[in-house]
Amino acid sequence: MSTSGFTVGVLSEDANGERRVALDPDAAKRVIGAGPAVLVESGAGGRAWFSDEQYQQAGAGVLDRAAVIGGADVIVSVSRPDDAVLDSLRAGQVIIGLLAPLTNPDLVRRLADRSLTAISLDQLPRTLSRAQGMDALSSQANVAGYRAVLVAAEHFDRFFPLLITAAGTSKPATVLVLGAGVAGLQAIGTARRLGAVVSGYDVRPAAREEVSSLGAKFVELSTAISGAGAGGYARELSEEERSAQQAELSAVIARHDIVITTAQVPGRTPPVLVTAQALAAMRAGSVVVDMAASALGGNVVGSEAGRTIVTANGVTLIGATNLPARLATSASQTYARNVAALLKHLTAEDGSMRLDPDDEITAGVLITRDGRVVHPGVAAAMGGPA
Ligand code: NAD
Repeated sequence: MSTSGFTVGVLSEDANGERRVALDPDAAKRVIGAGPAVLVESGAGGRAWFSDEQYQQAGAGVLDRAAVIGGADVIVSVSRPDDAVLDSLRAGQVIIGLLAPLTNPDLVRRLADRSLTAISLDQLPRTLSRAQGMDALSSQANVAGYRAVLVAAEHFDRFFPLLITAAGTSKPATVLVLGAGVAGLQAIGTARRLGAVVSGYDVRPAAREEVSSLGAKFVELSTAISGAGAGGYARELSEEERSAQQAELSAVIARHDIVITTAQVPGRTPPVLVTAQALAAMRAGSVVVDMAASALGGNVVGSEAGRTIVTANGVTLIGATNLPARLATSASQTYARNVAALLKHLTAEDGSMRLDPDDEITAGVLITRDGRVVHPGVAAAMGGPA
């Protein structure tokens, strides 16, 4: 795009219980201060408790959906835009969001066929220090980790902390967090703040120190598995490693009241960490929150995305989906800061949008452009260069 000054559009997103909004009034003000104009669909921030008036005070225009789409060069969104929105966008328009292009080949094809420029924040090169302010996966994982503990607490029928009262002493809850990345570490910290006795486990050796520094116990397995992979992520374990891990974890799981699982391996189905046998060995009243639950499966055998099940032995098993939408104000505020930082990065000195394929951040997030899938990793996942 070479025309000077561009306009950013924010739409209301309400599919699948979404309550977040891609720009909050503060971030809208920040974006406007950096050059671009901002148009917001009336009511877009309402489910995260931001009013149209707050957006107007921030300098944004508040219009109906068609007028925002018609007037915007760039649409910013939290999750993938619905079909009606996609159909109403015009060739050359830019869409920025968490589009999960590696697992949504149909969406990517459609974006390319419509000649839309798609930018996906989940493909950001996260280890670059200058990209950290744009790291939406981390900001939303942080919110999700916190919220997961609250979900567990809502379903757990005992106190979290050790309480000594005239009516006696209650033992603290024991919480086990499997997968100590961004979400897991936040879950550990939150459960500790609620007074639980917390343990953490991860297959990456670097996680040991991070778990301990939060005051939690790191679970050591005798079958030492070093699961560090590329880019700071975990690698997929072999079949033997997986069964050894599951078998040894089962005994640990049975000793805990609450288990929160967060394990992911990029581009793969989530690893199973809690088997049916492990679930069957847990005490009645225990709670398991599977943060990896999705249509592709989760970390817990039998968990179903978006559903809460009580097993025959009295374990509440929660297939948690879109936890950030259940803390919509904080999730929107942090996501909006990520979006504002990316927009700033993409704004050239003359105020135009600059999509420089030689820039590491831009190349990382740019998925489709001029009718082509330009992201090599996404193109490969779709079966070869487009
Ligand atoms: P993620 O969501 O991909 O996975 C969550 C956790 O699951 C990870 O810690 C992973 O090691 C763990 N896991 C995967 N398979 C497992 C298994 N079989 N058993 C147990 N645990 C398993 O990870 P994430 O939260 O996005 O972060 C991954 C890493 O990237 C972390 O080290 C994080 O600190 C790092 N990171 C770095 C930056 C940065 O450098 N700026 C930014 C974000 C994240």
